[in-house]
Amino acid sequence: MALMDIPTTFKITSNEKKSLTYLEKIRWTNGIICPKCYSLNAKLISYRDTNIYYRCGKCYFRFTLFTGTYLNRCKLKPSKLILLVKLFSLGLSARITSNELGLNYRTVLFLFDRIRQAILYHNRGNDNLFGEVELPVFR
Ligand SMILES: [Zn+2]
Repeated sequence: MALMDIPTTFKITSNEKKSLTYLEKIRWTNGIICPKCYSLNAKLISYRDTNIYYRCGKCYFRFTLFTGTYLNRCKLKPSKLILLVKLFSLGLSARITSNELGLNYRTVLFLFDRIRQAILYHNRGNDNLFGEVELPVFR
C-alpha cells in the first residue's frame, strides 16, 4: 500500500471517524474479522475517544483495531496514529514526532520500534532492505 501524501493525510486525520475507517480498511480489507475465531460476524461496539472496541458475534471476543498486531496495546486516537506513521515515514525522529503530535516521547519511541519490527518481519527473506536501517536499542 502506497503511503498517503501530506494533503490527503491531513484531510483524513482532521476527522476521527474517517481516520478510524481508514485504519479499519488497512487492517480488514473485506470487513472486520474476529482475531480469535476468524468470524466475519464482528462489529464496532464502543467508539469513544481512544476506547474503540469490537465484539465478535460468534465467540463474543472483545478486541481492538490492534489486537494481535504489532501495535497490540496502542491507545492512540486513530488520527494520531496515522500522523505518527506519516512522520515516521518521513524519517523524523521520535523526539520531533513527540513534540509535533504532543505525545509522550517514550510512547513514540515504543511505537517507532514496533513499526520497525513490523517492517523487518514483513520483509524477512527479502533483500528489499538495504542502505541505512535504523533498529531499536534495547537497554
Ligand atoms: Zn470470534
